[in-house]
Amino acid sequence: MTMPKRGRDWAEVRAEMIDRGAGDAKWRDGKTAVYVFNAGPDIAEVQHEAYALYMSENGLGPLAFPSLAQMEREVIEMALSLLRGPEGAAGAMTSGGTDSITMAVKAARDFARAEKGLSGPANIVLPKSAHPAFDKAAHLMDIEVRRVPLKDDGSYEADPAAMDAACDAATIMMVGSAPNFPHGIVDPIMTLGEVAQARDIWLHTDACVGGYFAPFARMNGVDVPPFDFEVPAVRSMSADLHKYGYAAKGASTVLFRSEEYYNHMPFENRDWSGAPMKTPTLAGTRPGGAISAAWAVMQVLGVEGYREKQGLVCATRERVEAGVRELGFEVLGNPLLGLIAFRHPEHDNYAIYSEMYRKGWFTSLTIEPPALHLMLSPKHAEVIDDYLVDLAAGLETVAAGKEGPQVEARYN
Ligand SMILES: *Cc1c(COP(=O)(O)O)cnc(C)c1O
Repeated sequence: MTMPKRGRDWAEVRAEMIDRGAGDAKWRDGKTAVYVFNAGPDIAEVQHEAYALYMSENGLGPLAFPSLAQMEREVIEMALSLLRGPEGAAGAMTSGGTDSITMAVKAARDFARAEKGLSGPANIVLPKSAHPAFDKAAHLMDIEVRRVPLKDDGSYEADPAAMDAACDAATIMMVGSAPNFPHGIVDPIMTLGEVAQARDIWLHTDACVGGYFAPFARMNGVDVPPFDFEVPAVRSMSADLHKYGYAAKGASTVLFRSEEYYNHMPFENRDWSGAPMKTPTLAGTRPGGAISAAWAVMQVLGVEGYREKQGLVCATRERVEAGVRELGFEVLGNPLLGLIAFRHPEHDNYAIYSEMYRKGWFTSLTIEPPALHLMLSPKHAEVIDDYLVDLAAGLETVAAGKEGPQVEARYN
């Protein structure tokens, strides 16, 4: 495409945009279980309106926009109170989990350089199930990544003893997930914390997908193991608002146990022709709408609203567990939150996945082991029975040897 010489009519452009979406995954109907967190039309309206109210304002300028600075501060205060940040804990909003993780790795590295005499190469030690955002951050900063196999007891948890063995004097960070994305399992953060503390290594909890879910699941009676700042060794956490916080996209939080740790995150530069510039996170310009929409959704839902939504998601996950077991699938580990992975021991799981794809279900999968994967939203409570009916039919097709071609491996 080249730019139109004469501008087009907005009504026509708008109609074309809506038309283009017709071929997309049907997330509004609950047909996706990845990429989109569907908390229903009421919350979508809050996201839209709250985003639009501050869409032109810029989080880069807290002095110009004290409104945004206050909303960001309050989002962080709400986050720290949910995740048991101690007195003096600090944090910032970022553009997403990858941004939060990158900034936590940067802070840990700069802390190691400033306080622990690190001068040469650095490494981070993570379980095989940790998110690739750590690899991206490490790649950017020339840090070695040491991925450690999970426990081999079928729990799909990080293996603290094996991670201990992978650490050395150049290890600037250990990572645990709450939960990990592939299997939806919460790592044994308390035990990882004992290892980290004995070695005086920075422990990061990646609660990108669970940070705004697990606290409410716990209030609802789910026995979630310790994962947040309750664990003394946890120095930083990532928790995404644009996942189970039900905020508009472009909103995450990166949190630190203390101001001392936080202070290794911001970047300041005076050595250029312009005004001195100090930014807390990776971004320069920060969309005001992402901040205002997150703040608004948290205010509108409140603790009771989140508890209700996360309760619905947990109940839906339990229906999936029971339904897939009845069909002969095995659930991987013991998922407690909104994610679940399951595999059929006898049939080609990617063939079943492909049958589901052809029925309009857009979901993720896992490689180790090959399995189907769902990240559930409140909307799924309405459609999960349809999913299970289609799964039974898809399985039957594969079992009868009548399956169609497999869809290409998905990048998610
Ligand atoms: C989603 C996710 C990330 C990355 O977050 P983005 O917002 O997609 O950058 C990191 N870790 C876990 C566990 C996640 O689920």
